[in-house]
Amino acid sequence: MKIDITAPGEKTKKGSRHPISKAIKDFEEIFSDLGFEIVYGNEADTEDYTWNKLNIPKNHPARDMQDSFWIKNLKETILRPHTSNVQTRYMEKNSPPIKIISPGRVFRNESIDATHEAQFHQIEGLVVGEKVSLANLKKDLKEALSVFFGRNLEVRFRPGYFPFVEPGIEVDVSCHFCKNKKDCFVCKGSGWIEILGAGMVHPNVLNEVGINREKFQGYAFGMGIERMVMLKYGIDDIRDFYDGDIPFLKQF
Ligand SMILES: [Zn+2]
Repeated sequence: MKIDITAPGEKTKKGSRHPISKAIKDFEEIFSDLGFEIVYGNEADTEDYTWNKLNIPKNHPARDMQDSFWIKNLKETILRPHTSNVQTRYMEKNSPPIKIISPGRVFRNESIDATHEAQFHQIEGLVVGEKVSLANLKKDLKEALSVFFGRNLEVRFRPGYFPFVEPGIEVDVSCHFCKNKKDCFVCKGSGWIEILGAGMVHPNVLNEVGINREKFQGYAFGMGIERMVMLKYGIDDIRDFYDGDIPFLKQF
């Protein structure tokens, strides 16, 4: 057979990175630039590292906030409902100063709807050292979120409750969709979007992992990656990420 080397070639279809993987990569770069180390951990872990050491003992009502999947025939092992198991394990092995983020997949026994999935992704951050305060948290979050959203965002704190931090705070950022217009569908005209939970590491948590709570303080935060990407691009259904819909995925 004669090969016609002048014939045009066939175009190869190229895939692209999934928007969630891309966001995780982006956050890893952003936080690395801020001096954070990236640490990964197990997706299944014991109750001890997932809850007990995080100031959530057995029968604590906060366990219901994170309805979890248990693994059959493996006593006291769950699919992690947050990536905090990475933090407890890391703090046990390393002394301050600590400055890490832990990205990864988490699992919750949720009914699935437009804003809830039974598996999603989180990035948690943890900074422990001397003289660590909420001011450091505010500065780091403002910087990281402004880079991710590509705009200079304002950050505000409101009181919130999470058992592993004291005080606990809810973090809002200024709405980048509306610029304070009254009819904004994202912030409902308030100008602020609730974006993540955070706080100062509870002294009991430091105690549990053998860090001197008199000498060191820490801050921690946790954010849902799907929510971040939904807010960045104005996506209103979390299920879109996992439908395998090519036209949807091609946009990123
Ligand atoms: Zn708005």
